[in-house]
Amino acid sequence: MSRVDEVRAELGEDNVNELMDAYYTSGLSLNDLRELYDLPKSFTDKKIVELFPMIELDDGCPLCGGALFAPRISRGIKDVSADSYYKDQVFCPNCGKTRQQAMRELEEFERKHRLRRAFSIEPKEFEWAKRNPDSLTSTVFEVLIEVRGGGGNTYLGPIADQPLLFGFIDACKALRGEGYIQPTAAFDKWLSGFEEEEDGFSFYWYKVPFAIKLKGYTAHERNPIIVEGDREYVALGQGEREYWLRTAKGLVLAYLDVQLDDACYEYEGPKREEFETLLDTMLLEYSPAQITSLIWNAMATAEKHAEEGPAYKRTGNWAMGVVLNRAKKALSEHWDLHPNFPSRTVEDTEFEWNFFDVHVPIGETWMYRSVPEVTGGCIEIKHAKMPKGADAATAAMIAKAREIAWRIGTGEPDYLSYDETDRFIKRYE
Ligand SMILES: [Zn+2]
Repeated sequence: MSRVDEVRAELGEDNVNELMDAYYTSGLSLNDLRELYDLPKSFTDKKIVELFPMIELDDGCPLCGGALFAPRISRGIKDVSADSYYKDQVFCPNCGKTRQQAMRELEEFERKHRLRRAFSIEPKEFEWAKRNPDSLTSTVFEVLIEVRGGGGNTYLGPIADQPLLFGFIDACKALRGEGYIQPTAAFDKWLSGFEEEEDGFSFYWYKVPFAIKLKGYTAHERNPIIVEGDREYVALGQGEREYWLRTAKGLVLAYLDVQLDDACYEYEGPKREEFETLLDTMLLEYSPAQITSLIWNAMATAEKHAEEGPAYKRTGNWAMGVVLNRAKKALSEHWDLHPNFPSRTVEDTEFEWNFFDVHVPIGETWMYRSVPEVTGGCIEIKHAKMPKGADAATAAMIAKAREIAWRIGTGEPDYLSYDETDRFIKRYE
């Protein structure tokens, strides 16, 4: 029992009420009051006020509806009477919360309720056997499930990372349009991905979980590499190949953005759009690493122009023009481009790791290969061209090294060097 509780018990209810009346209205000093009621010397205003019963308000608790209470205010403040209380200290003894806390919780509760109602659409059932490797959207869905799937294939965790895939969100929108993915507010943890708007809610594609419904799902087996002489093939649909092309495109554009950004340029316009379109052709002849190297050189040239030339050459428009012209020239004159290491500038994500592990199992070497066309449900994996003349491992070697690494439970080499991968295979085989 605290000292205040003890003293209150000694006084009894009637005396406490009398003391309260005297404290607020009699004008007696603290000393007189202490003497009259035999209070300890240490009892100043604060302790004396604590002796008094809390004020019970007319208002109910927003959460439980129970009575609200508030502590009284010590005298000496202007206009204070026995009925004065601290408004910000109103609390509910039942919930153990202040009124403000209870109000906030109620608002949060109502918000969650409204959100759940707005985002409680059941996803359409997706029959796994009907997935279509010729469709980009279907391939995106597959990769999403492999990378972010969980909860017995009933939901996808938040996407979180931005995949390099060019047009990724459009593909997600198509999936939502077909009803296969639906944003869901069923998990408190991710509620921050939703935002209240004037007439409803919106959500961030990268932040919210999605509800899905799969029928007959089995994890995708890694596509086998087919070797014929010194040529390598893998069975691939048009949609999967499109995924590859767009990923390569995304890598190049992310690299371009970093370079423009480093030079403090901002440019969105027709030249960039033209370059984006040109990439679809360019990536059939050159690897992303070769094109990023061309961008690096073109940007260096543009910087030189900017230093020496007139003001209009110190713009993103000018720099983009230099990149575009070089790209066109390289294509028409069949330049032999030296690759650089794009992964030192642009980070890849689990989405690429998964795709180039399962669909086209060539690991990071995809950055050093051009994108082939599909013929008869197959593509030929072209040679990788590495910086500094080193050779990358072949697809068959990568498959073999992976199998060994998996069998003996060791880490894989990065496959960017033929010799290292070869040594790995010979050592552990
Ligand atoms: Zn309450």
